[in-house]
Amino acid sequence: MNNLAIEGGKPVRSNKNFLVFGAPKIEEAEIEEVVDSMRCSWIGTGPKVERFEKDFAVYKGIKHAIALNSCTAALHLSMFAAGIGKGDEVITTPMTFCATINSIIHCGATPVLADCDKKTMNISPKEIEKKITAKTKAVLPVHFAGRCCDMNSIMDIARAYDLMVIEDCAHAIESEYHGVKAGLFGDIGCFSFYVTKNIITGEGGMVITKDNRMAERIKTMGLHGMSKNAWKRFSDKGYKHYQVIHAGYKYNMMDIQAAMGIHQLKRVDKYWKHREGIWNKYNDSFKDLFCEIPEKPAPETKHAYHLYTLLINIEKLKKERDWFLDALTAENIGVGVHYTPVHLHPFYKKNYGWEKGDFPNAEWIGERTISLPLSAALCDKDTDDVICAVHKILKK
Ligand SMILES: *Cc1c(COP(=O)(O)O)cnc(C)c1O
Repeated sequence: MNNLAIEGGKPVRSNKNFLVFGAPKIEEAEIEEVVDSMRCSWIGTGPKVERFEKDFAVYKGIKHAIALNSCTAALHLSMFAAGIGKGDEVITTPMTFCATINSIIHCGATPVLADCDKKTMNISPKEIEKKITAKTKAVLPVHFAGRCCDMNSIMDIARAYDLMVIEDCAHAIESEYHGVKAGLFGDIGCFSFYVTKNIITGEGGMVITKDNRMAERIKTMGLHGMSKNAWKRFSDKGYKHYQVIHAGYKYNMMDIQAAMGIHQLKRVDKYWKHREGIWNKYNDSFKDLFCEIPEKPAPETKHAYHLYTLLINIEKLKKERDWFLDALTAENIGVGVHYTPVHLHPFYKKNYGWEKGDFPNAEWIGERTISLPLSAALCDKDTDDVICAVHKILKK
């Protein structure tokens, strides 16, 4: 007799105790800092954003960190700053969030996909090389789940073909590869502080670069194309006129957001340690079930442990992955899918001629993958419940 909640059995957690996927941990210091911004009536872009940028630059050990209102904005402006536009091609992975692809499209360029590796789920350098044409301008690697891409090979290719490298580090704030931090390999690195990410500002993003000219372009384009930002304009140092030098965007981060980021960043390592513990506990617990567990991080790398993904053995279970999503949800445990490969979404199929079968590894993952709750907000009881529910559903 089966006691799965999806078949009417008692769920592992009660309905009112539903474990939300990707819930952030928010502590008193950021609550007070947000309130302080509101009380002093400076909630827009100002001193807290400047401080968050400085702190982030120090954390990464880089000259420029520019805070924006999302990683999507960061990716978009990075393309622009890198001089990518109409007629150019940018190579990226199908195993990513749509924002990665949209940022390429928004700057007028054409996204070109290179399949990922089945084990690491990261873009395959061999596949990148196959997709290079005379139009290729840049490679956009995504450090999937917080596991660094094969950056030695990718940088070798970039040097050989004179390509820009823009890293999508939305999962990878803490990631390192052979002693180098994610975002520092290529020309530009983009980060996300969206609510489900490793540290959060609600909505928010950051661009890092060592290039003075690109940093200046990103700053200008992120605020209407104005050559001076609003805070400097209205500071007590006297009125400063601004000049519009581009048709820019409204992508600036607010002090209310930076107020959260400043305190979250102080705990980045503490939160990472907590997620590492959960990730390892999951990996030890799911060895003998109808699923594949993620590979251990490669030597000389630091995994950011943003996602914990299981690959369901749909052949042995004789059930589709979505059955597992429903079954875990019925146990009152939130779950995610990272990702349905981007080339299977209707817009891209229609406009780029991509079809099922084009990227077999990404599709293989896309049919089997599920992401379990992994966040600094989880307590031992939460993770025990997740383990208990997964065992109920996937036991042999
Ligand atoms: C979350 C995410 C983004 C977009 O980040 P936002 O800050 O929400 O714009 C981009 N790429 C990847 C891989 C992501 O997971």
